[in-house]
Amino acid sequence: MSVLSIVKEYIIQKHFRHFKTREQLKKYQEKMMKKHLQFVLQHSVFYRDYYGTDNVAEIADWRKLPTIDKTLMMDQFSQLNTVGLDKDQAFSVAMKAEEKRDFSPTIKGITIGLSSGTSGNRGLFIVSPEERERWAGVILAKLLPGSILEKQRIAFFLRANSNLYTTTQSKRIEFTFYDLLDSFHDHVLRLNDFQPSILVAPPSVLRFLAKASLEGRLKCSPQKIISVAEVLDPLDEKFIGEVFKQKVHQVYQCTEGFLGCTCEHGTIHLNEDLLIVEREYIGDRQFMPIISDFSRKSQPIIRYRLNDILTEKQEPCPCGSPALALEKIEGRSDDIFYFYKGEEKIPLFPDFIRRAVITASEEIEEYRVIQSAIDVIELQIKWKEKKEEERLRDSFKDVFQKFGVKVPYIEFKDYDFRPGVQKLRRVERRFRC
Ligand SMILES: [Zn+2]
Repeated sequence: MSVLSIVKEYIIQKHFRHFKTREQLKKYQEKMMKKHLQFVLQHSVFYRDYYGTDNVAEIADWRKLPTIDKTLMMDQFSQLNTVGLDKDQAFSVAMKAEEKRDFSPTIKGITIGLSSGTSGNRGLFIVSPEERERWAGVILAKLLPGSILEKQRIAFFLRANSNLYTTTQSKRIEFTFYDLLDSFHDHVLRLNDFQPSILVAPPSVLRFLAKASLEGRLKCSPQKIISVAEVLDPLDEKFIGEVFKQKVHQVYQCTEGFLGCTCEHGTIHLNEDLLIVEREYIGDRQFMPIISDFSRKSQPIIRYRLNDILTEKQEPCPCGSPALALEKIEGRSDDIFYFYKGEEKIPLFPDFIRRAVITASEEIEEYRVIQSAIDVIELQIKWKEKKEEERLRDSFKDVFQKFGVKVPYIEFKDYDFRPGVQKLRRVERRFRC
């Protein structure tokens, strides 16, 4: 790992990878994509077979190539990667690292990580040393509040560390990893000692820390707060922002790559300077992204269908970036609720569910809404002082009536979520549809 390479990438990203117009950006993307495709066709057996050619000149329109998804990527892992890694070997290294909480082992210098998910459904991701340096330079350029020369102390809460993250260690930038498996009581003590200038954590953890700060247990005032890994619910955004007296920033990153982050105005922009995002619309402004990352060589991601729902922002962002601005990340498409309208099943996006809760009562401190069957929703509510179940029930009935769907059975349960290893999904569907 070379600090010099990181700084070089930081400078390119910060000062040279800039586009004034969408046309300029698109032209750059096409040029990069063609170059990248030629590399992929030469080095990935899977893509060569899948597209039936080893020459980019034979591909008239790459946007018409077949898409891939997580299942295909995992099935074809050994043939897809361009660094000759075997799937079983990579899995065993990654599993051992998680068990021992020692994330330093690599194979041939390649970092191996596992995405969260159920045991049979976990994704493997690999990152080469060059990609690691590039990632570090880019993320610092996009997220550091000041210059790279200013001292920063970054506290990072994660389910599993990876040497991808510890790459950024240098004299000026101090970086500490907080394992979500460890005790939160100890984390608060460590944070008081460390005094982070930047705090990066899932919103459920940021909320816990905000509460600890209100109660006087956590004594630090970070300069920047960044939410990662879970959907940032408006309820949490407000609470965290008020306690720490600042805007809550967001990083949109998943196994498939670093996909976007907020600008200084708090708007999430997709990283279209690093990847191409095709939009498959499922609503007026809601779409599911198909990503092609022209900066990732070891595990090429081309026309990869993500199951996230993103909502475009209507007005342009005042920052002037030509990269697509998002209103919000709604969540996973698996969490779209479905209800009967006559014989037909119709979808209700997570955002309608969220708004039904948040607008119902000021007494709601935290919540989860779980659709356990097509005609049953479960409301887990943590009330502040008084319970206002009827108001909440009415708010949901209004939404159901507006969409003309059959009103499901609504049951109330106690709120029992604790921040930790489990990801918080405030809106969750638990049956297959
Ligand atoms: Zn912006």
